[in-house]
Amino acid sequence: MTDDWLDSPFDPEQRYKHLEDIEPEFWKKKKLEEMSQKEWELLCDGCGKCCLNKLEIRGHIRFTRTVCRFLDCQTCLCKIYEHRFKKVPDCRNIDLAAVRETPRWLPKTCAYWLLDNGQDLPDWHPLKTKKAASVHEAGMSLQKRDVISETGVNDYEDYIIDWPDL
Ligand code: SF4
Ligand code: SF4
Repeated sequence: MTDDWLDSPFDPEQRYKHLEDIEPEFWKKKKLEEMSQKEWELLCDGCGKCCLNKLEIRGHIRFTRTVCRFLDCQTCLCKIYEHRFKKVPDCRNIDLAAVRETPRWLPKTCAYWLLDNGQDLPDWHPLKTKKAASVHEAGMSLQKRDVISETGVNDYEDYIIDWPDL
């Protein structure tokens, strides 16, 4: 498989089916800043939890169960991925600065945050299972969770949650 998928419509299953040209367990051998674009992209498990709306309260990030209006909560994929930064000014690119920002706003299960903090990927991560759906099957994505679209939300504080994986 070539690197074409980097420019193709996002198809998570295809990404993890063809890892022949990827160094085995590259995430244990390289720092985040040493990874290729392809390796970086493969780290994203597709959980969708970074698309939950958050509040910063007294120096801590509190997650809410309200989600960006453009997230497909079944697939946990962005419906406007190519145009997300134009349409949603506060949509964040996941780069090193975002991963290292304090207070932490990425979920505790986020592969970038885990690796940057000296931890391994979880056993359900698609890079280990070679199956994109394993994040959903393990209950680690937003799929089947009690989330609501931000449209119609008046007071985000009414929706603060304390899920253990956030
Ligand atoms: S939280 Fe991390 S792993 Fe999950 S979708 Fe966002 S960037 Fe990817
Ligand atoms: S626009 Fe940004 S925050 Fe909204 S669903 Fe897409 S990636 Fe997530």
